Amino acid sequence: MSYVGPDFDPPQPRRPRRRPLTVAVAALVPGALLGWLVYETVGGSGGGSEEAAGTPTSSSAPVTATTSPLSTPSKSATDDDKPSPTPTTSAPAASGPLKGKVVVIDPGHNPNNFQHTAEINKKVNIGTTWKECDTTGTSTNAGYTEAKFTLDVAHRLRTLLQQQGATVKLTQDGDRTFGPCIDERAQIGNKAHADAVVSVHADGAGAGQRGFHVILPGKVKAGSADTGPIVASSASLGERIAGNFVRATGSAPSNYVGDGTGLVTRKDLGGLNLSTVPKVFIECGNMRDSKDAALLTSGTWRQKAAQGIFDGVASFLS
Ligand code: ZN
Repeated sequence: MSYVGPDFDPPQPRRPRRRPLTVAVAALVPGALLGWLVYETVGGSGGGSEEAAGTPTSSSAPVTATTSPLSTPSKSATDDDKPSPTPTTSAPAASGPLKGKVVVIDPGHNPNNFQHTAEINKKVNIGTTWKECDTTGTSTNAGYTEAKFTLDVAHRLRTLLQQQGATVKLTQDGDRTFGPCIDERAQIGNKAHADAVVSVHADGAGAGQRGFHVILPGKVKAGSADTGPIVASSASLGERIAGNFVRATGSAPSNYVGDGTGLVTRKDLGGLNLSTVPKVFIECGNMRDSKDAALLTSGTWRQKAAQGIFDGVASFLS
């Protein structure tokens, strides 16, 4: 979907913005901002320089952005065209620091939704209103689909989590004819009693709109939606993911939503409204911007993205 947002207005290190909301939110996510300032300082390009990924943040950043003790080094020299390596043995590690933790990964959309528009257009109840079961998702101008992207990142993330002993479940693995619908996506996390759920997406905004953002559930109580119990925990999860995503990828927070924090709270997403366990969405970048698209189509970058999400989840769980 596309957003209409304020023009990009990066905060200055010596003259931080004083808009109350921005300051309030920034106080919650010093990690994301610190990482971004480092990014700005070292002149990180969209490609994500190594300097931006490693420098001062790690020693001075607060807990939300610190490197998780569980983090593993990013893979390098991954073939850009190669999809994530699907492990032949997908069984969780017998032991590991995340043993006993259940993580549900929700790869946004489904590669087959395009062939099932009638089914995915059927409306489902999300508590506050009725919304389409699912959507096809977006794609780069060259045709690399969001559904392909989300599955690839999900596979990479699953591998990282399983290596640390976590039990991982995907809401879909490209193995369904369509969907699941957004209400079922939420139910899968709920029924699994997941300790954390991450819905992976990439955005379809306008050219020139760049960067990632993490979407947090707003407080909603209507019909079968009641996010009250998960708002705070989801915010904690999302802040940790945002801070670590900056560090791992070198990408800046969105320049079109979130006032530079990389965080956006929404009450209109069924997948969040119906969740009873900590859950966030991440829009990893904008597929319709050529610079972001160059990152999103790079296997090396997707591995960094998965690492950043993993570090955030591991930090939240530990
Ligand atoms: Zn999406």
